[in-house]
Amino acid sequence: MKTVAAVLRAITDKRPYGESRPMQLEEVELGAPRAGELLVRIEAAGVCHSDISVVDGSRVRPLPMALGHEAAGIVEEVGHGVRGVKVGDHVVLTFVPSCGICGECSSGRPALCTPAAAANGAGSLLHGPSLLKGADGKVIHHHVGVSGFARHAVVARESAVVVPRDLPLETAALFGCAVLTGTGAVLNTASVRPGQSVAVFGLGGVGLASVMGAVVANAWPVIAVDPVPAKRELALQLGATAVFAPEEAEKGVKDLTGGGAEFTFEAAGIPAVLEAAFRTTRRGGTTVAMGLPHPSRTLSLPALAFAGLGQSLVGSYMGSASPQRDIPRYIALWRAGRMPVDRLQSATMPLEQINEAFESLAAGNAVRQVLLPHARQGAKG
Ligand SMILES: [Zn+2]
Ligand SMILES: [Zn+2]
Repeated sequence: MKTVAAVLRAITDKRPYGESRPMQLEEVELGAPRAGELLVRIEAAGVCHSDISVVDGSRVRPLPMALGHEAAGIVEEVGHGVRGVKVGDHVVLTFVPSCGICGECSSGRPALCTPAAAANGAGSLLHGPSLLKGADGKVIHHHVGVSGFARHAVVARESAVVVPRDLPLETAALFGCAVLTGTGAVLNTASVRPGQSVAVFGLGGVGLASVMGAVVANAWPVIAVDPVPAKRELALQLGATAVFAPEEAEKGVKDLTGGGAEFTFEAAGIPAVLEAAFRTTRRGGTTVAMGLPHPSRTLSLPALAFAGLGQSLVGSYMGSASPQRDIPRYIALWRAGRMPVDRLQSATMPLEQINEAFESLAAGNAVRQVLLPHARQGAKG
């Protein structure tokens, strides 16, 4: 079938993106779903910093690629052998199509699924090569099995979680990356207990989802750090008990926690911020890295802190999530009013405004902007 997708053909760090326009809407040919795959009409797709990391080359992916990894939509067609999903179901898409049977999946770590990582690295789908072609007849790669900045996508069954129909799809999309990653780091990777102290560095969609996770876990205090005052204000509204600008954070966190937080979470993807988070972690505490820095970057940490102070540094990919288990839990918390995920949504706009949305995120002005692939330009601001 013919559909429209936002395609990246060359990496660029030229800003503003509203002028360099790295993403182009193209009419593309999308193959029919094969065995184990679904055709999804994308209704909403969130713009995440990892998308910009592909645009500026920090995250190396095969090009051309149809970007977008945080999306929700309605199932339009079901391939052979698909179970547990039917036409008309609402689905949230996730960016690791965990196979369920590899060594990592079998060890209870589906976010690290080996075949999923291979398919994502190759820009293909879990069950076969790319189904996307440009007007020139040449292959366009899928972005982590989702390619959600599009009117339609074919995805592996394993990339889709069926969600209740009363959850607005604009909100549902955010569960697929921001919530899975940020809340999961707190509840799964760190297993924060009531009364433990938490500090979150970097208040985009992922970091604010960590704040929500810490509030749900009854952590105390819950401290949030970001240079942008409006993001600190939103963190307070979401239940953070104190907020600091980065330059005040080390002293502020240590004063409030009697020497450092038991858990610190880093969502900026900047080594200096991860080092700052590590410095504000108390003896015996744990620093959790969620952000994705450029692969060439390295860290500088006091070597003695590990054995000498019992400190730990752990990585958290996709919130150590099991999406089929976790997304329904987070939706239940949203429904109960305990995780106001819709508050992360700072704007909705038609897909045509994707470059402007990328610029706004890169400039630090937005938390989560949601693109609506079927909205007419100018219809919604
Ligand atoms: Zn993301
Ligand atoms: Zn697997």
